[in-house]
Amino acid sequence: MSFSNIMDSNSYSGISTDPDTEKLIEARAHLLGPAYRLFYERPVHLVRGRGSHLFDADGARYLDAYNNVVSVGHCHPHVVAAITRQAETLNTHTRYLHDGIVEYSQRLLATLPGEVDQVMYACTGSEANDLALRVAQMYTGARGVIVTRDAYHGNTEAVTAISPSIGGATTIGSHVRAVAAPDSYRAGADVAGRFLADVESAIAELKAAGVGLSALIVDTFFSSDGIYPDPSVLAPAVAAVRAAGGVFLADEVQPGFGRTGESMWGFTRHGVVPDLVTMGKPMANGLPVAAMAARSEVLEAFAREVPYFNTFGGNPVSMAAAGAVLDVIEDERLMDNAARVGGALRDELTRVAADNPRIGDVRGAGLYVGVEMVTGPDLLTPDRTGAHDLVNAMRDRKVLISVCGTHGNVLKVRPPLVFSMSDVDWFCTEFAGAVAALP
Ligand code: PMP
Repeated sequence: MSFSNIMDSNSYSGISTDPDTEKLIEARAHLLGPAYRLFYERPVHLVRGRGSHLFDADGARYLDAYNNVVSVGHCHPHVVAAITRQAETLNTHTRYLHDGIVEYSQRLLATLPGEVDQVMYACTGSEANDLALRVAQMYTGARGVIVTRDAYHGNTEAVTAISPSIGGATTIGSHVRAVAAPDSYRAGADVAGRFLADVESAIAELKAAGVGLSALIVDTFFSSDGIYPDPSVLAPAVAAVRAAGGVFLADEVQPGFGRTGESMWGFTRHGVVPDLVTMGKPMANGLPVAAMAARSEVLEAFAREVPYFNTFGGNPVSMAAAGAVLDVIEDERLMDNAARVGGALRDELTRVAADNPRIGDVRGAGLYVGVEMVTGPDLLTPDRTGAHDLVNAMRDRKVLISVCGTHGNVLKVRPPLVFSMSDVDWFCTEFAGAVAALP
């Protein structure tokens, strides 16, 4: 199963809607070509957002339980004001001195372990991972990379080669080995032991193939693999990677910036300190801002040899937006909110699951929840159709979610961090109704 299949399992399939929507769908397809996908059998045409709510062209209100980019809430006034202020004042690039990038870097690095002491800026998570790959390869003098079997790390040529979930016509590189994600639902108690054994075999294979080991790269919440929050998994594998001369790159594009409620970064839950950390999506609440943070000794070989310039990366408007996001996370205690509201959401979903055997597992941390749909006598067979039907039924009930996982059967519930207790009630009422009405 591939990412493209997962996208397709939750995408527009030609079911007709109203004439205005039809026209927009057609114009988009004509102008953008067929590579773009739309969510839902009946696509949603959004025109406005506030907090965790979205409004369509007819004024109907939707509950956003999916969008992690606008992590501090759609159109947060503090972020909008910071962007506006800086856009009215100056927007240049990193070849001129500016206080904004230095002030923001101090704040950002203060949220990371002391060993991770330098940061470089980009515009997308893909670029940040692309840069991190180059840094890791120069530091280790090796090319080999270990990722998980349904990992997604971005869309440049180099990171496509380490993103097996894309599937379709793309193939992973000959310098890449993919290991099974730590499927806590099926692996039982020894999920960490299995993951370690798989990583050790991959290390041996890369060495035997002559490419050596450069890095283990994982999304520390295993998002595209199916959301696996077990925090015991990474420490033994990271130790094995270091013992073999490789570095550990924590891809925090999804779990970073407080989503798990327990800490600012997903790797902290695993008790590991990465060599490289990449981040993006929620960093500036929708502006294209991303970064790679590094231990300076790991960065040094690359930085000495390769001058780095990224036209938009780290510009004053981006830094103002990113700083405002940190303000809101602190001022509105959004990590606490993620822990409290996310806990209530999982509790309630677990109650719904107790009455419905088609829901095999409810798992997650903070405001990142996976709901695994299953079927078969052993209730272990992935139920892709059930997940697809439920996502579309929820959309018709004006609650937005999606799917992830190897088989496209894990509901991905990942709302903005400002999700409230009344949002949880709204979500769970519609969810219980949609589950009860499943064919
Ligand atoms: N890493 C992970 C874990 C991601 O989920 C994504 C985006 N889905 C990326 C990297 C790439 O980020 P971007 O789309 O900003 O290039």
